[in-house]
Amino acid sequence: MDMKNIQSLKTHILQAANTLEKDLKQLSLQIHASPETGMAEFNASTWITEYLAHHGFVVKKATGNLPTAFTASYGQGQPHIAILAEYDALPGLGHACGHNIIGTSAAGAAVLSKPVVDSYGGTITVVGSPSEELHCGKELLIREGVFSDIDLAMMVHPCSQNAVTISTLACINLEIEFTGQSAHSSHNPEEGINALEAMILGFNAINSLRQHIPKSARIHGIITDGGQAANIVPARSAAMLMVRASSMTHLKHLQKRVEACFQGAALATGSKLDCHWANTCYEPMKNNLVMADLFRHNMESIGRTVETKTVDFASTDMGNVSNIVPSIHPLVAIAPPETSLHTTGFLNAAASEEGMKGMMDSVIAMALTVADILGSPEIISEIKKDFYNNKKPD
Ligand SMILES: [Zn+2]
Ligand SMILES: [Zn+2]
Repeated sequence: MDMKNIQSLKTHILQAANTLEKDLKQLSLQIHASPETGMAEFNASTWITEYLAHHGFVVKKATGNLPTAFTASYGQGQPHIAILAEYDALPGLGHACGHNIIGTSAAGAAVLSKPVVDSYGGTITVVGSPSEELHCGKELLIREGVFSDIDLAMMVHPCSQNAVTISTLACINLEIEFTGQSAHSSHNPEEGINALEAMILGFNAINSLRQHIPKSARIHGIITDGGQAANIVPARSAAMLMVRASSMTHLKHLQKRVEACFQGAALATGSKLDCHWANTCYEPMKNNLVMADLFRHNMESIGRTVETKTVDFASTDMGNVSNIVPSIHPLVAIAPPETSLHTTGFLNAAASEEGMKGMMDSVIAMALTVADILGSPEIISEIKKDFYNNKKPD
């Protein structure tokens, strides 16, 4: 290993980060100010790819037939490192998950890694992955073969603490629709079949189920259609739910029990049930411990105190990537510990001074980690060894 060269590259990275800061902040705040939800992130993906093209990356748009996906590559051949960009916002809440920071930190880290690629060879590709929140976008990219040439993958998610390994739940989306029969709610209610009552019964059945499921499991949803007027028996009701469990096996089991809750409600009310499970599923994260150690060291070297434990982090489609190639999904603190993701508090943090500091620290820590990896074939084989020895959660 040529330590001297790695050290001088790392020194260069630390100095060069300042020159990117102004543009990256502007890009991040611009995305924050015009939030776009999953699969509609046209501005964000355009702005990020323009930035990368300007810095000499070869951009391919609409990767895997997803209009707002992209890849942007620099260098040639193996090792091939993917840095994942997310840029979707939450419906009604904006960038309350801080994906404006994820998208820009991925782009910044890739640009900052260029001298490393120039020195050691290999390729850095920013994979623009749409709709993390709503459609499990990375799974769609995996199915299109986007990761077939990738050796390892990383990204950083803003949070309220610094951490390098996360524990996430398997998660699947469910759409429920009940069809009943409309009638006048006062004049001839006996002729109606109440689709809203079916939905309420289904939700209540799930609440009864809740006390008998593992405590890590989660079932939560919203009713998106509960009828049109109080004096019409609702002929249609609809809901969106998410079901989560600690492993894919536990999730499959829980799905059957959730579906039974709605089947029971259909039977009780005489309405017709349509139960539509998503054809993608968020898989639990498999943390690459070698990459995590490198990242921890680099985060600490720029003055952050990093959590020693694995941190619970709901679900992410990076879990799917982590089961295909060695991956990390570290967290960078941009808000006080009590600030939860998906709240207005976190929305504000994602555009704050702390948020921009977290973005720049993510840029630097990822580029330093790229230097560690591309600078050492031994480390790459350690990373792969950890990946193959580390069992997939069952
Ligand atoms: Zn989120
Ligand atoms: Zn997120």
